Amino acid sequence: MRKAVFLDRDGIINFEPGNYTCSVEKFIINEGIGESIKLLKENGFIVIVISNQGGIAKGLYSVSDVTEMQNKLEDYLSTFNTSLDDFYFCPHHEEISKCLCRKPESLLFEKAMAVHNIDPNLSVMIGDSDRDVLSAENAGIKGIKVLPNSNIYQICKEIINKFGNG
Ligand SMILES: [Mg+2]
Ligand SMILES: [Zn+2]
Repeated sequence: MRKAVFLDRDGIINFEPGNYTCSVEKFIINEGIGESIKLLKENGFIVIVISNQGGIAKGLYSVSDVTEMQNKLEDYLSTFNTSLDDFYFCPHHEEISKCLCRKPESLLFEKAMAVHNIDPNLSVMIGDSDRDVLSAENAGIKGIKVLPNSNIYQICKEIINKFGNG
């Protein structure tokens, strides 16, 4: 089984302005993300983004806007010679319709763990909200909450020290 680091998107990967990121122009990648993902992957971690995108259900933006932002992120990561292993998002919002995939539900974590053969005991989630931590813990994964838009490089180093570099 593999070890993994799960990342929230808004506030971790890209700048969280305090509301929805609706377009690729507003998708500004936070400092340290390229270096952090590269370091994790070099140390044997699978890196997966798990994101609530309830703005889709609310009609604020579309799935193709999310895809465009994802492409921007992948282009950016390729300049570091690295990449994500997967990206899962929930397009629902409880004000519109209930679902089982929106964090703090754990369905997207369970899906990712099954697809990528991930050991939850060797894995960590980094997020900027309580529901990130809660959804990870609902899947048996340790959650770490950081301030929105922090540089996560140091935390990634600590995760590597804790879980080894094998
Ligand atoms: Mg967030
Ligand atoms: Zn959902």
